[in-house]
Amino acid sequence: MRLLLVEDAAHLADATARGLRAHGHAVDVARTLADGRTKVAIESYDAVLLDLGLPDGDGTELLKAIRARTDAIAVIVLTARDAVSDRVEGLDLGADDYLVKPFALEELLARLRAVQRRAAEWRPDPLVVDTLELDPARRLAWRNGTALDLTTTEFALLEFLARSAGEVCSRARISAKVWDEHYDPASNVIDVYIARLRRKVDLPGAVPLLHTVRGAGYVLDAAGPR
Ligand code: CA
Repeated sequence: MRLLLVEDAAHLADATARGLRAHGHAVDVARTLADGRTKVAIESYDAVLLDLGLPDGDGTELLKAIRARTDAIAVIVLTARDAVSDRVEGLDLGADDYLVKPFALEELLARLRAVQRRAAEWRPDPLVVDTLELDPARRLAWRNGTALDLTTTEFALLEFLARSAGEVCSRARISAKVWDEHYDPASNVIDVYIARLRRKVDLPGAVPLLHTVRGAGYVLDAAGPR
């Protein structure tokens, strides 16, 4: 699984990441709430392992941000807090599971397997716009039945536009959903990604789907430009 471990204690973060990697997981580590937020915004994680006591804030803030997203990232809270009220709060905020420190790596691995089983049962419907099809669960996309080779960010942008198909999406809306807090509104990064997507999605001979609405943003629509 693609994992983000948010843990400020260096020795624990290193040992846990090493153990998870040894069991085939791809693990990024964030040592602060801010770094966790950034990584969640730019990467596509299957699960976040979240410490609550972080130097710059409470991990529950990140949990809330994750649950405000349209995708389904599993969250396992890892914390020294074992009071019943803390556990209930975490679960009420949408944590999938709870592990009290110190925990055994084997137990964390077992919880991850349980999360993965639940994710396999929950599969969002493919998104279909004309002859473009996206499978968000597997992060795969096809145009006219041909698989598209998309980067993580390209897929996230295309998924956002497909979920908003027919609606004009401003750069501000796109950046808020697909880019992180360090997105520079003065940059042309969205335009660059749109151009890349257009080359991959709107193949020669296919009905163009990705349209620029001058002064407003972009729209993914089989009906053509406005
Ligand atoms: Ca901590």
